[in-house]
Amino acid sequence: MSHFNSILTKLIHGGIEGDERTGAVNVPIYQTSTYKQDHLGENKGYEYSRTGNPTREALEALIAELEEGEHGLAFASGMAATTAVLHLFKTGDKILISENVYGGTFRVLDKIFRSFGVAYEIVNTTNLEVLEEAIDDEVKAVFIESPANPLMTVTDIQAVAAIAHKHGKLLIVDNTFMTPYLQKPLTLGADIVVHSATKYLGGHSDLVAGLVVVKDQELAKSLYFIQNATGGILQPFDSFLLIRGIKTLGVRMERHQENAITIAKWLKGHKSISHIYFPGLESDPGYAVQKQQAKGPGAMISFELKKGLDIRKFYDGLQLIALAESLGGVESLVCHPSSMTHASIPEEIRKKVGITEGLIRLSVGIEDVKEIQEDLEYALNQAANKGIDL
Ligand SMILES: *Cc1c(COP(=O)(O)O)cnc(C)c1O
Repeated sequence: MSHFNSILTKLIHGGIEGDERTGAVNVPIYQTSTYKQDHLGENKGYEYSRTGNPTREALEALIAELEEGEHGLAFASGMAATTAVLHLFKTGDKILISENVYGGTFRVLDKIFRSFGVAYEIVNTTNLEVLEEAIDDEVKAVFIESPANPLMTVTDIQAVAAIAHKHGKLLIVDNTFMTPYLQKPLTLGADIVVHSATKYLGGHSDLVAGLVVVKDQELAKSLYFIQNATGGILQPFDSFLLIRGIKTLGVRMERHQENAITIAKWLKGHKSISHIYFPGLESDPGYAVQKQQAKGPGAMISFELKKGLDIRKFYDGLQLIALAESLGGVESLVCHPSSMTHASIPEEIRKKVGITEGLIRLSVGIEDVKEIQEDLEYALNQAANKGIDL
């Protein structure tokens, strides 16, 4: 497939395609835990499915190609992927994390890794001076999301990679919100890319999965060792579902994004909203960097209701858009970060970084954009309605 280089084509034909034995155009689901050995010490390349499975391998080769890396690894969830990456570090090491990372990333560092002596420090990675000052001997890596969850803060990946490498540190990027269709952190200098493939890559809210991609051979070896040793692998059926989801990523992302831009422009001027966070608006502080490092702003929008509006009435007023954790599926979803996705972050840190009670996060789906807007308009009116007709 070497000269067919468009990502739209790679989404469908990348990695290991089909089945050599039968000609099946799709990778078969090798639903097996073990493999018969020809003779003692001789096998066909597979021994046991934690160690290797052809369906999972096809997915791993596909994501490596899409991210322009060399090695992909598939895990049972985004958190299993992140946890595997964090196992690269040892007692005495420190990780710098962006101000608003996914709540679960914060939680695993704060509640699990910290008790093993791996420290973390929250830094504003949009401020390069602040970031560089925070780097000391203990720091071994910088872990960022861009745009970050839930305030869509944009970090300059190339600039952070340069600073990290100048000091001999690794840069890890959680690319869940963008996917390789919109942003390829490895080409911007990142060392490790992590995904919750549960979101846009899967795309249909029907599976939980995680992926890791690296370029470096030594890092790949260490991560393969961790994957096999700790065992948080993705199952064959879920690997198949994820390969299937990825095939339509291009068309889905285009529509997600088109809808999100329409909704963001409309929300920005809305009388019930005091602030909107979306790097696709020129007024957003992340606009320029986003434009430079990604093919688009994505489809995640956060906004703040004006003071005095009833946020419960907003959520109750939605009929089409579901109140649910997660994002990136074909259907539009809303969540309340301070009590849901980011509840594991202590209140004082939430307040400091701006995850307020009035903050709403919207994952714009691919439904008819006029109907998404209609649903939001009705719910916003409900939130503003206190018996007086506004
Ligand atoms: C959901 C999410 C995760 C965690 O992934 P799971 O698949 O839920 O384990 C990590 N990072 C980001 C940005 C996410 O949205």
